[in-house]
Amino acid sequence: MCIFCKIVKGKLPSNKVAENDSFLAFHDINPQAPIHVLVIPKLHVECFQDTAGEMMAEMTPFIQKVATKLGLDSNGYRLITNNGDDGGQEVKHLHFHLLGGTKLKWDRMVADPKAENI
Ligand code: 5GP
Ligand code: ZN
Repeated sequence: MCIFCKIVKGKLPSNKVAENDSFLAFHDINPQAPIHVLVIPKLHVECFQDTAGEMMAEMTPFIQKVATKLGLDSNGYRLITNNGDDGGQEVKHLHFHLLGGTKLKWDRMVADPKAENI
């Protein structure tokens, strides 16, 4: 069972922000911004590429409500999903990083300078 499935099932602790029958939002253990929350489906889906459009249709308003609950809706936020190895995905359970609470820089979303094909 993956670590996020363990969090869903309560086998690992998490600092929850919101949940419903299908989705869960909890604070990232290693925050990269004043607010850094992960939003996941309770159902194990490996990555965005494997995600049904129907699930995204339900997940979108949930993420929007989480952003509002965190007070990020007016000033803005960044929503990221890392997909697969090149995308830097470490936990292979779909998750969206919801980052905010400050003006975010945009300098880490580039190709790795050590990569050979850039
Ligand atoms: P990825 O690199 O897969 O897009 O992001 C995985 C994220 O999960 C990282 O930001 C990491 O800090 C977070 N993370 C990993 N393990 C745990 C955990 O056990 N609890 C929480 N709350 N976050 C975790
Ligand atoms: Zn899982």
